[in-house]
Amino acid sequence: SSGSDENDVVVIGGGPGGYVAAIKAAQLGLKTTCIEKRGALGGTCLNVGCIPSKALLHSSHMYHEAKHAFANHGVKFSSVEIDLPAMMGQKDKAVSNLTRGIEGLFKKNKVTYVKGYGKLISPSEVSVDTVDGDNTIVKGKNIIIATGSDVKSLPGITIDEKRIVSSTGALALSEIPKKLVVIGAGYIGLEMGSVWLRLGSEVAVVEFAPDIVPSMDGEIRKQFQRSLEKQGMKFMLKTKVVGVDTSGDGVKLTLEPAAGGDMTTLEADVVLVSAGRSPYTAGLGLEKLGVETDKIGRILVNERFESNVPGVFAIGDVIPGPMLAHKAEEDGVACVEFIAGKTGHVDYDKVPGVVYTSPEVASVGKTEEQVKTLGVEYRVGKFPFMANSRAKAIDTAEGLVKIIAEKETDKILGVHIMASNAGELIHEAAIALQYDAASEDIARVCHAHPTMSEALKEAAMATYDKPIHI
Ligand code: FAD
Repeated sequence: SSGSDENDVVVIGGGPGGYVAAIKAAQLGLKTTCIEKRGALGGTCLNVGCIPSKALLHSSHMYHEAKHAFANHGVKFSSVEIDLPAMMGQKDKAVSNLTRGIEGLFKKNKVTYVKGYGKLISPSEVSVDTVDGDNTIVKGKNIIIATGSDVKSLPGITIDEKRIVSSTGALALSEIPKKLVVIGAGYIGLEMGSVWLRLGSEVAVVEFAPDIVPSMDGEIRKQFQRSLEKQGMKFMLKTKVVGVDTSGDGVKLTLEPAAGGDMTTLEADVVLVSAGRSPYTAGLGLEKLGVETDKIGRILVNERFESNVPGVFAIGDVIPGPMLAHKAEEDGVACVEFIAGKTGHVDYDKVPGVVYTSPEVASVGKTEEQVKTLGVEYRVGKFPFMANSRAKAIDTAEGLVKIIAEKETDKILGVHIMASNAGELIHEAAIALQYDAASEDIARVCHAHPTMSEALKEAAMATYDKPIHI
């Protein structure tokens, strides 16, 4: 057992923050143990987040395309059916293959894996209630808390994961609901709403704020919302859920305008609560150790990811910053580099964000609204996929590229893409931003033809000069 011998690094939590930190620590020659309570590695992301949601988004997209798009390409068949258990099965298989893959990586890198619930009893000791009912003490010179986040409900709403579900329940419904109401128009709500919309549900999204996905560039958001509406998604913005009645067959929601006013009701078979996530620190023993947290329970760390208690570090969703898997991974690597006596670095201004709907929306850097607030003079270059030959050839011409560059220097400040494959296209922009590129730098790079990436080049041309194809 790992119990008695001391580790250089003990990681609590085996999500994208924790498992990546553990592997990196071992690669840097540190003796490392990772403790995970769920009995499988990969955390929220792999088990009930990024990966299963992308599996269902893809499967439901294939069904939707088969029904609505294949015929345009001359591919016809007499009937298309959904086999929901098979669809869920392919998702589950992807998840279990990947979690086992991480176990393999742990073995390869000699990371000790302890399955159990970890609790800090000193800055160098973790008491673990193991999944097989034992208790063991794992010691480490450095402890990294990577316990992630958990779903947050709303006052007066109890999630039963059947009729009132979190994203976790929405990834495993046993039937296609006739009516799905999504509370919260963040990216998780829109992604899960898209899955069930494509599979045939009527989907209404209720949002307290005036806008969907608040972090998105306003101009892109407008086009994105219009696209989702065209697909049949209904939005009830500036609307508050004030009551939930589950006494009948379905769920009856009572709604009120955010600003106050007459109440209305809305019926649903299933309600998805996607109103954000909370840092997960329950049972960790933080109070006793005196680890400082902010008002909403996130662990406060310095630029070395160290909390106010020396030797206790934290990374990922449990600290402030974007709650994204790739951000957690970057945190994990940088944190461990510091522990190993090297210098780690995460540039939080350049973390890409992707909404994996259809079309996808991806961005990196600043929105136009943020640039305006900064008072920087800027130029905007745009290019629609309607004018991109590859997008036209394959009939996925919805969307655009928008580049925002500083007026005086042409330095790129932000890039926003709405496109079928925006999540892949965005990384050229991320590299450009990382290298402090000007939009002309992108425009002068020879891009292969015909590719959707050419739209980025043309948007860059439009930023400081003129594009060719529009
Ligand atoms: P987590 O992944 O939450 O991992 C923490 C782990 O710690 C958990 O496995 C938990 O069981 C374990 N743990 C907690 N407490 C203890 C303890 N005391 N002892 C032992 N183990 C403990 N992000 C993206 O970047 N892209 C996406 O497409 C995306 N899609 C998402 C879709 C959904 C539906 C959801 C819910 C989230 C999605 N996210 C996505 C967010 C992403 O999942 C998180 O940002 C990411 O998982 C955070 O990583 P983490 O390692 O900090 O925490």
